[in-house]
Amino acid sequence: MSIVLRPIGYVDAALLDAIAPRVARWCRREVRLDPRAIDPEPARDPKRHQYHAGVLLQNLLDESNDAATDARVLGVTGVDLFIPIFTYLFGQAQLGGRAGIFSTHRLREEFYGGGHDGDRLVARAVKEAVHELGHTFGLRHCIDPSCVMRSSTYIEEVDQKGEDFCLACAAHLHAPT
Ligand SMILES: [Zn+2]
Ligand SMILES: [Zn+2]
Repeated sequence: MSIVLRPIGYVDAALLDAIAPRVARWCRREVRLDPRAIDPEPARDPKRHQYHAGVLLQNLLDESNDAATDARVLGVTGVDLFIPIFTYLFGQAQLGGRAGIFSTHRLREEFYGGGHDGDRLVARAVKEAVHELGHTFGLRHCIDPSCVMRSSTYIEEVDQKGEDFCLACAAHLHAPT
């Protein structure tokens, strides 16, 4: 089963190129890029100036019917995500489903008033990508503080965890089916 990365709106191609091999390494699956960007505007909430993650996830699924049936599709976007019960989201995925999305909006140092840090952005993006893909592979949140499946609400929590799965999560992820 392979993984397809697909931009939602404008995403720096260099970022996708940088994260793809690391996502492939941690998930132990082939990763390819589908450069056909999906328009995020139908998901925009004009009052919040944010984008509804559930709507984007459904649009990504609708647009990805031509992908191999067992492929996972991960949407990468620069827009700020929300769902009605949360102020914002780093990402969202279908548990055991085909699709996930994550946003780089709050992964950039610039968002927190810092200077541009490309390496840090890539490291954070890899964690969020691997985390959301982990959900599509059926993994729930993990209490191991170093595990990529640890839930993160704040950027500090993203920085504290690793890019890899803990032994228990890895055993589930890589178990022969
Ligand atoms: Zn999660
Ligand atoms: Zn874990």
